[in-house]
Amino acid sequence: MQSWVDSIHARARTRLGSGRVASYIPALAQQDPERLGIAVYTNAGELYSAGDAGVPFSIQSIAKVLLLTLALRTHGEALWQRVGLNPSGMPFNSLAQLEAERGKPRNPFINAGAIVVTDRLVGSFATPDKHLQDVARRLSGNVSILIDAEVLASEWQHRSRNAAAAYLMKAFGNLDNEVDEVLRTYFSCCALSMSCSDLSVALNFLAADGHARATGERFVSPGMTRRINSIMSTCGLYDAAGDFAYRVGLPAKSGVGGGIVAVVPGRMTVCAWSPALDESGNSVAAQYALELFAEELDAHPQEA
Ligand code: GLU
Repeated sequence: MQSWVDSIHARARTRLGSGRVASYIPALAQQDPERLGIAVYTNAGELYSAGDAGVPFSIQSIAKVLLLTLALRTHGEALWQRVGLNPSGMPFNSLAQLEAERGKPRNPFINAGAIVVTDRLVGSFATPDKHLQDVARRLSGNVSILIDAEVLASEWQHRSRNAAAAYLMKAFGNLDNEVDEVLRTYFSCCALSMSCSDLSVALNFLAADGHARATGERFVSPGMTRRINSIMSTCGLYDAAGDFAYRVGLPAKSGVGGGIVAVVPGRMTVCAWSPALDESGNSVAAQYALELFAEELDAHPQEA
């Protein structure tokens, strides 16, 4: 497995130089586009990594997986009265469907959907962002995971579009709490800094029927795990989810920090990170690394 990861890292490096680092959140624009990390965490508890796998980066929309998981744990199926379950076919920050669909976002992985999910958590926890940080620490076994204050401040300063979505949903009665509080909490969760190694370990419960190896607990039920993986498959890579599903075929979630986490159910989780993005907002080199990884899985169906 270590030789797969090393060889995928070397081959994916050829994609460095394509794409552009996200600049609509100015703090993210400072990221080095030459970074590339890959980490694989198997259900047997083995971690394999290459390149910048240990470097913390802004997880951004990957936080939406943890937000959704916490909201399903606390609100169950009632959550789906507030947010839909279908791909949007639109950019992650689009407002167009929200007006037509009366403030109910298409799915929990577009910004509007994650803001609604955050609103549910604001109603359930005193400090949901600190709770999420704590969950990320426990699931990854890394107590030094932090919310990046500079990224949080930058997102808050440039919040107009997310604020527009939140106010529209509030006007339709789909947000219970104050817009500012919900947005601050949402940005705070997106501003968590984690490495590829942290993320591959933290989200391994999705490959292990909901069982979190780091804590020894069943974090979610097998059925809920299957459902979260399904939403990742259909909605995890913005409006390019179909392309990614065809090329890689694994449930995955990307973020504009350049990270992508993918799940091989029953076997392992893999996280790739490189900051330069394509037009859909997905990392060019990380997508390629995961494509190469899927090809290795095809070639070695029994390993790991
Ligand atoms: N915090 C980012 C935003 O709301 C998340 C975007 C993303 O990673 O898709 O704009």
